[in-house]
Amino acid sequence: MNCRNFRDMIPAFEADELDDEQLGAFLTHYRECATCREDLSIQLLVDRGLDHLETGKSFNLRKEVEQTVTESSRRLKARRKLEKIAYTLELVTVGIALAAGAAMLLIW
Ligand SMILES: [Zn+2]
Repeated sequence: MNCRNFRDMIPAFEADELDDEQLGAFLTHYRECATCREDLSIQLLVDRGLDHLETGKSFNLRKEVEQTVTESSRRLKARRKLEKIAYTLELVTVGIALAAGAAMLLIW
């Protein structure tokens, strides 16, 4: 992931359209690159700040950016955890199938 990729992915990030791998890379670059943190802030300001101006609500950009990033990484972690559980269940199922197969062989 470089800065150009990061900037290209901002719209997809905002729309929550990145897959787990992309989101992981995006968030890693966000943490490592001050320039891109700023870029994301500006982009969010442009996209959301205007909404806030229209509704007349106050707008804390830094908080908004932090919240967005925190929520995204939380979602990513949750998804990865689910994947791990699914993978474990699959292994257990395979294990049971193998054990059943071995038992059948013993019976025969
Ligand atoms: Zn960057």
